[in-house]
Amino acid sequence: MTLTFLGTRGEIEMRTRRHRMHTSLLVSYRGARVMIDCGLDWLGKFQWLHPSAIVLTHAHPDHAWGLRNGAPCPVYAPEITSQELQRYPIKDRHVIKHRTPTKICGTTFEAFPVEHSILSPAVGYRVSAGRACIFYAPDLIFIHDRSAALRDVQIYIGDGATMTRTFIRRRGKALIGHSPVRTQLTWCQKEGVQRAIITHCGSEIVTGDERKMFANLRAIAEERDVDVRIAYDGMKLTL
Ligand SMILES: [Zn+2]
Ligand SMILES: [Zn+2]
Repeated sequence: MTLTFLGTRGEIEMRTRRHRMHTSLLVSYRGARVMIDCGLDWLGKFQWLHPSAIVLTHAHPDHAWGLRNGAPCPVYAPEITSQELQRYPIKDRHVIKHRTPTKICGTTFEAFPVEHSILSPAVGYRVSAGRACIFYAPDLIFIHDRSAALRDVQIYIGDGATMTRTFIRRRGKALIGHSPVRTQLTWCQKEGVQRAIITHCGSEIVTGDERKMFANLRAIAEERDVDVRIAYDGMKLTL
């Protein structure tokens, strides 16, 4: 399985060469290319990547609005996300049921509900092919069934909207926002996941001194026995 971080920018104004495009991951396996998320930055552009299929985590602008004019391939999304995008002229739609492993072009995707937004509920995906298995959740406060989601996962790919500051608001009984990277690395430690990659980068990463910030991050990760990297647009790795 080869992972290409097509985009690593979160929902912020700023962009740099390393974090230019809205967060999206290309999962390639045996010639098939599945793109996870297609935000507004990709509108009119993603067709050039020739995806075999597109899978969506939620309907926020930085994850789904690139599909405003439709898609030349099948689009998979949880029911509620698909409903939110019902006006989009997407011809080949498929629903991914929560907690039901679904094979898409030879790679298995299992959607795990995550807390993030009330209006646009989100999922993270456990993605597996051959012996490779990752968990991808670009926007989240927490994973509802974290142990099942992260069991035997080689790499946790998580939300870089905030490093240590809390970015969570309460709306009635629900929470909305993003958990700090520090908290996500604690989950990795608890579930025995040894590698983490941070994507969906927020202003602390994109506008700050990335090297200095990374030194702090590495200290946090070392305390938790996790190997961490910050993804950048175009970063590629093979599992
Ligand atoms: Zn986002
Ligand atoms: Zn979001």
